[in-house]
Amino acid sequence: MSRLRITLTHWPRRALALADTPRPNCPDCDGEGFTAYGYGDDKPEWGPCHCWDPTRVRLLLPLPSRNSPADYSDEPPF
Ligand SMILES: [Zn+2]
Repeated sequence: MSRLRITLTHWPRRALALADTPRPNCPDCDGEGFTAYGYGDDKPEWGPCHCWDPTRVRLLLPLPSRNSPADYSDEPPF
């Protein structure tokens, strides 16, 4: 069962999105959504846990970028 939540994403652009989330009681990642691979190595690799799909994102509502020059316009609002 998927656990789709509304979240704020910054990629590929700032937008409200419907995204899959990690299973809160997952025994492998404790709900963090990421697990370490390569135990015993100096630098373990971190990757997304099997309990969710971080690529499963559906954009709902694109939002204007905060760094857009339009934010600094001094034209009066309509
Ligand atoms: Zn997990």
